[in-house]
Formats: sequence, structure tokens, C-alpha cells
Amino acid sequence: MKPIQKILIANRGEIAVRVIRTAKKMGIRTVAVYSDPDSQSLFVLSADEAYPLGGTDARSSYLNVDKVIEACLATGADAVHPGYGFLSENTDFAKKLEQHGISFIGPKPHSIEAMGDKIGSRILVAKSGVPVVPGYEGESQEMSVFKKEADKIGYPVMAKASAGGGGKGMRRINSSDELEAGILSAKREAMSAFGDDRILLEKYIVNPRHVEFQIFGDTQGNIIHLHERDCSLQRRHQKVVEETPAPNFPSSLKSKMAEAAVMAGKAVQYEGAGTVEFILGENGEFYFLEMNTRLQVEHPVTEMTTGLDLVEWQIRVCQGEPLPNLQTPKQNGHAIEVRIYAEDPKEGFLPSIGKIHHLSFPTREDLRIDSGVVTGSEITMYYDPMIAKLIVWGEDRQTAIQRLIECLSETIVFGPKTNLQFLQKLVSTDQFAKGTVSTHFIADHEDLLLKENTKEELKYAFAGLFFSSKQTLDPWSPIR
Ligand code: ADP
Ligand code: ADP
Ligand code: MG
Repeated sequence: MKPIQKILIANRGEIAVRVIRTAKKMGIRTVAVYSDPDSQSLFVLSADEAYPLGGTDARSSYLNVDKVIEACLATGADAVHPGYGFLSENTDFAKKLEQHGISFIGPKPHSIEAMGDKIGSRILVAKSGVPVVPGYEGESQEMSVFKKEADKIGYPVMAKASAGGGGKGMRRINSSDELEAGILSAKREAMSAFGDDRILLEKYIVNPRHVEFQIFGDTQGNIIHLHERDCSLQRRHQKVVEETPAPNFPSSLKSKMAEAAVMAGKAVQYEGAGTVEFILGENGEFYFLEMNTRLQVEHPVTEMTTGLDLVEWQIRVCQGEPLPNLQTPKQNGHAIEVRIYAEDPKEGFLPSIGKIHHLSFPTREDLRIDSGVVTGSEITMYYDPMIAKLIVWGEDRQTAIQRLIECLSETIVFGPKTNLQFLQKLVSTDQFAKGTVSTHFIADHEDLLLKENTKEELKYAFAGLFFSSKQTLDPWSPIR
């Protein structure tokens, strides 16, 4: 296969900026595509070329397959990097690119299709010997069948949208009285989010951890794993903090799970970067949850501890190169990522839109900031309100946590409300320090995590006054 000359990034925000950075390093030209509200965004300014998709919301821009393909043809891009979300796991998009002779930087369409459906992927990986959560994934969607199957599984059960993603279409059901309402509500959410309301049932694993493995495959059939990530700190089934190595994770368990992850990848002849997610029960039993056939939001923690550039690997594999290393590389130290959002924790974490009057992070060697916004940028209602991912490295977990707390306290966002204080409280808890949190931790301690911190609030208020009077000196700022 010939080397890629020009990559179109079919995404926006921090991940578009992230992909552009590696493409530049490799001497590959980049094309940004953008919607109307994004025309002045950092990722658009960072790319070598930019092509307008028009439209405002995702559906009329980044999710519009025909418009994105038109952009590829108009700009002569020979490859597309889909980032995460949007079209990254869309089989139809990958197939259409193939038909136009444009490379999709990701797995083959058949792998995306096989893993895109939770019912189908459970059946498939179970056949290769990967443990799946006991449950029901039959054809019938009759309420009487769900009732019978839920009784067999034993309550509590989890009703899940087969087409689900991003924590949507999922309901915990505690008893047969709640079953019908739970299933109908999961179906409603699934239909509106994914246009597909098929549901499966799983045994609800109580107080579990979420542990996933980064895997990588090439076109020669090699598949390796690049260690695990613990993403147990979640809100509404969405990750908030991610780290590697997983704390309190015996090496015997790690080898068993890593082997299962590679097996799942082999089951779909996986090529490129993928993540196999597992749920880990209190007694050390683990089960396959799903495979995400794309780069993951939390991939930087893997990069910080292995020294690898996963986007570079994705591009090389797409060009037909073999994996540079057929052994799992050693991990060095510990890395933790937190997702900083423009949202109001006190208002049910409602997105907080508006202009960012000031944004600054500490600059230090052990800190990486992945962000798609700068001082002067606007957080709009159209897309995910993530401001930045803050990723710290430490020689060991304790050092990493200490540095994370410092970095969060030195981060200033003035304008929209943010989850900064919430994150700071979260990573300062004893339970997090001990590495004993389950996926229920945030929900169980919400009151404590949301409590006012007067000293901090004052500091932010002063910082805000200071920076709003100073205007912006940021050279990247579109409002300079
Ligand atoms: P990660 O582990 O990378 O956070 P998520 O499943 O939470 O994985 O998804 C990452 C991003 O992709 C989020 O922004 C999420 O909202 C989005 N996403 C995931 N699945 C879908 C889907 N089926 N449709 C639309 N967006 C999705
Ligand atoms: P999504 O595609 O939305 O990411 P997942 O199947 O990966 O859906 O599940 C997301 C999260 O929901 C998991 O990380 C876990 O916290 C929770 N979860 C999923 N399945 C179960 C289950 N059977 N029991 C308990 N929690 C679950
Ligand atoms: Mg998941």
C-alpha cells in the first residue's frame, strides 16, 4: 500500500487537534471539515486545509456521510481519520470510503459491523471462549420473554440497547415490578439515540470495576495488547477519570483478561486500535462488555506510560506496515486522565454554554493537556461540552494523584461553569487514593462531592475578575 499523503479528519474539537498533531509530525497534510459554529475553532486553524460542511448540529454536519465524502473528493484526501464518536463506528461510512478508494484509518467494515451491535458481539466473542455477562440476547423482544429470562438471570438485571454507546439506553432493573417500565424506557431512549430499540438483558454486576484493554492489530494478522485502563469512576455509565495501570490488579488476573481481550480482537480479524471493555466483579470474575472499534477518549494514559503514539501506529497500520513490536511494551510509571467539562455539577451536570473568557493550565513536564478550545472560544449547545482532558504522569500512582490534585487547582476556566471542583474532590478522596472505587462511587457519594468549597470558590471568583479585566493575551485566541 502506498504512503498516505493527506488525511481528512472527520471530527472536531480536541481529538481533531490531537490527530493533526501526529499527522504533522509524520509530514502528512491535514484537512479539517467543520460546521458553521466551528468555523473559527482551534482544530480548523491548526489544519493545513479546511473544508466547510455547513450545518449546525451534528446530524447536518459531522454525521452526514455524503457531505464528508464530498469533502474528501474535493480536497483530494487519500485517507480519513474518524476520531471517536460521530462516524467512527459507522460501517456504511467505512464501506463508502472503500468504494471511493479512500483509506479509513480504522478496522475493516466487517469488524466494525460485528462489534457495533452488543447482541451480535456477545454471541460472537462467547463462541471464541471470552466470558460474557450471563444474560439474554435472543431474537424475541416480547415482554413475557424478557420477564421469564430476567427471572432466570436473577435480579438486579441491566437492560441495554443493542445499538447503544456513550452510556445511553441502559437501565438497572431491581425487581420484576420494575421490569416493564425499565425496558420500555431503555427502548425509548435507544430509539431516539440510535434508531434501533432492540434490547438485551445482562445480570447486573454489583459494585464492579470497569477495566479495559487497549489492543492493536495489523494487516498481517498480528494482534497484541497495550495494557489495561481502569475507568471505574463514572457518572451515568460515562467515564470521568481513567488511569493505567489499574490499581490493586493482580498480575494473574491481568494476564487472563489480556488474553481474553486479544481473543476478542482475533474473533473479528481486528486491524488498528481497538478497546475491549470488561466489567470486573467484586470476586475477581470478569466479563466482556463490548469492543470499541476506534481510538478511545482515554488513549493518552496508555501513551504516557508506554511512550507510544497510538495515532502514528493507526496511520502506519493503515498504510500496511506491520506492528513495530510484536511484544507488549513495558509500562513506565502511572498516568491518570480527567475530563474537564463545561457543565454545572449543582444543576445535575447540565452543560454550561457560552464564551470561555479565560483558560489556562499549568505548564509542566509531567502534564499533558488535550484540548480543542482556547481563551475566547465558545462552548455551544450543539456538541459535547468537553473543555479539555488533563493527563498527568507520575513515577507511581501516589505521585500521579498528588500531581493531579496540584494541576487541577492551578487550572483556571473563567466563563462557563465547570466540573473542576468536583473532579478535585473526587481525586482527593481516601477511596480513590486506596484504589478501591467501584462504578457506583460517584452516585453513592454525590452529596459529599458536590459540597461547597468556599476557599476555592473565592479563588476562582478573584481569578475571574482579574482575567476579565485583562482581556486576552493568548496568541491562539480568535478574539485577539
Ligand atoms: P469512551 O470510552 O471512548 O469514552 P464512549 O462509548 O463513552 O467511549 O464514547 C466516546 C464518544 O463517542 C462520546 O463522545 C460518546 O458520546 C460518543 N459515542 C459513543 N457511542 C456513540 C454512538 N453509538 N452514537 C453516537 N455517539 C457515540
Ligand atoms: P456503552 O456502549 O454505553 O459504553 P457498556 O456496555 O460499555 O456501554 O457499559 C457502560 C458502563 O455501564 C460500564 O462501564 C459499567 O459501568 C456499566 N455496566 C454495563 N453493563 C453492566 C452490568 N451488566 N452490570 C453493571 N454495570 C454495567
Ligand atoms: Mg462502553
